[in-house]
Amino acid sequence: MYREDQFLPLVGVQHYLFCPRQCALIFLEQLWVDNYLTASGTVMHDRVHKGPNESRGDIRTVRQLRMRSFRLGLTGIADAVEFHLADAQHPGVKLPHARGRWYPYPVEYKRGRPKRNNCDRAQLCAQAICLEEMLGLTIREGALFYGETRHRVTVPLDTALRQETEDASRHFHEMIDSGITPPAREGPHCKSCSIRELCLPNRLKSAKEYIRRHALEG
Ligand code: SF4
Repeated sequence: MYREDQFLPLVGVQHYLFCPRQCALIFLEQLWVDNYLTASGTVMHDRVHKGPNESRGDIRTVRQLRMRSFRLGLTGIADAVEFHLADAQHPGVKLPHARGRWYPYPVEYKRGRPKRNNCDRAQLCAQAICLEEMLGLTIREGALFYGETRHRVTVPLDTALRQETEDASRHFHEMIDSGITPPAREGPHCKSCSIRELCLPNRLKSAKEYIRRHALEG
């Protein structure tokens, strides 16, 4: 269990699984650059956050819901949490100004398209674990909405994803506590990295130094 003063931003789990170095550059070294990718992502999230809380049939949607987990040591604001009318299979909680009981269904909005690894799914799972801890129930699934494909993907919150999320959260904490930024590990994921310009110039600079040093030695 973590104390409140040890909490880290929940979104760090997504960055850590995307690339530990990216996570360290953002949360340890406080580096960030706005580019097309981040700007369009911000516009999309603003649109989601500024939308009204909605009530449609058996679904109530709450936007910008603040959440936290003492077990993961994370806190953040969810884009949207839908509350679906509870039934025998899905026990729920009471909501203000609504009759009956409702069970939470987190929905996270992403600018791009589904990724190969579990970074987005783990972010959603961390949100679900926060909600479970705050509301005292179990959440079986949530969804990711991708802006580029305009597609909503259902995410089962199974044991394997929960374990990966807990591990990523623990490693994120350990990395922040160590104060050490991991070295760059270039790969296909770098192409869609929002801070590539901040990460890779260091490597280019080292290469220049390498050439200069060897030229001098020659
Ligand atoms: S450019 Fe690649 S190695 Fe560097 S932070 Fe981004 S994803 Fe990680």
